[in-house]
Amino acid sequence: MEILYKSTRSDSAPVSASQAILKGLADDGGLFVPTQLPKLELSLEELSKMTYQEVAYEVMKLFLTDFTEEELKSCISKAYDSKFDVSEIAPLVEAEGVYYLELFHGATIAFKDMALSILPHLLTTSAKKNRIQNDIVILTATSGDTGKAALAGFAGVEHTKIIVFYPKNGVSPIQEKQMVTQVGDNTHVVGIHGNFDDAQTGVKRLFSDQEFAKEMEKKGYQFSSANSINIGRLVPQVVYYVYAYATLLGQGKLSDGEKINVVVPTGNFGNILAAFYAKNMGVPIDKLICASNENKVLFDFFRTGTYDRKRDFILTSSPSMDILISSNLERLIYRIAGEDADKNAKLMQSLSNEGEYTITDEMKEQLESFRGGYASEQETFDVIKKLYEDCGYVIDTHTAVAAAVYQKYVAKTGDTTKTVIASTASPFKFTRSVMHAIDGKYDALSDFELVDELSRIGNVAVPGAIEEIRDAKVIHDTVCEKDEMKDVVKRFLGME
Ligand SMILES: *Cc1c(COP(=O)(O)O)cnc(C)c1O
Repeated sequence: MEILYKSTRSDSAPVSASQAILKGLADDGGLFVPTQLPKLELSLEELSKMTYQEVAYEVMKLFLTDFTEEELKSCISKAYDSKFDVSEIAPLVEAEGVYYLELFHGATIAFKDMALSILPHLLTTSAKKNRIQNDIVILTATSGDTGKAALAGFAGVEHTKIIVFYPKNGVSPIQEKQMVTQVGDNTHVVGIHGNFDDAQTGVKRLFSDQEFAKEMEKKGYQFSSANSINIGRLVPQVVYYVYAYATLLGQGKLSDGEKINVVVPTGNFGNILAAFYAKNMGVPIDKLICASNENKVLFDFFRTGTYDRKRDFILTSSPSMDILISSNLERLIYRIAGEDADKNAKLMQSLSNEGEYTITDEMKEQLESFRGGYASEQETFDVIKKLYEDCGYVIDTHTAVAAAVYQKYVAKTGDTTKTVIASTASPFKFTRSVMHAIDGKYDALSDFELVDELSRIGNVAVPGAIEEIRDAKVIHDTVCEKDEMKDVVKRFLGME
């Protein structure tokens, strides 16, 4: 069955998967959604006997129907290889009766690697399929995590270049070091004097600069985006929910058809949407529990039906979830609006003009499998400390938000359904907050002292991703003003 991709904001003609990956965003500003959600072709029992790579193929081929078997398998084998430090790619760890799905074993030890290690290959394959001769230039603004994962994914990939802009004084020391030490001739990293919004605005401006696009074209370049709204990032994320269920089934932890709940620490709503897609494909998932930190826009939305971004932005210890506009939610809104692009477009219009929108009761009824929850900073720290003290397992701050939300959910509902928590980052990525949660006495240590101490008390080896930056040479030292971003890009591309 051929799957095409249509925009959430108008009824323009649908495009192929490879075209949707190349474009990122639809011309009308909408997000691409599949014309239909496919059903799994193999049983979960059959899938339980497969490796991660094999499951990835069985799931992704259902979405990327214009890719040949050879193309897709090649992308998968280049992505999920020894860059991951465990052969299972996404192992499950049981702690206190809950299954933690560890999505942080890739090159940059955050779950962004699950999609960003394959996106470059999907993108270059898509370019080839559509006879695009230009080299693809990826422009990314980052608040820390996405930048490094995108750099690692695109480094050394032929016919691509990647340029990452980050706020010079707005990322953690470890995050900055991870980026500025990135090797690969096709990678560029630039600190800007400004905040994340300035970087983001600058990148968006470059994307929509038609003059510049023409100049680029002459030089054989075109821009693309590694942003989380790209369907090429969403589809690979469906895989690990199928894999998690199949694995638990294979281990005899679940009986055939037994339902599970899934808890996802949420920011841009991409990860939990992937779980929703997996449920619709036939994975027996009951509740999808959406966990927020103190920026609890989504919690309020699931409770009231009103999405209201007019509130203060709170800086928390789970920065990758500090977000007030969850872009991928639009795909769910479109669906519960009965795939009515007009209706969805009006709601999105209202969000950008009024700062809020409210869905109808009829739409709200279709959110029945979703539950929203949120955790305060204190609740997040308490969970890290307690889990460590009770069983020695150390989780990062984002995962801890999910664990805290899950505990509150169980206390309230008494629901004893077996549960998978998406574990989205290694604790080594957020060492300072994690160690602070365990004991305030660690506050005085330096960043790398904290790393070694965490390794000792948690009894886990320091991940390669951290080890390799300890003494790594700084390669990228470009810093610019926010109005110089275009000049910098031109210089990198030899366009002066
Ligand atoms: C990006 C990120 C999230 C949020 O995921 P979304 O798909 O944006 O909801 C959660 N935790 C970590 C560690 C992340 O990097």
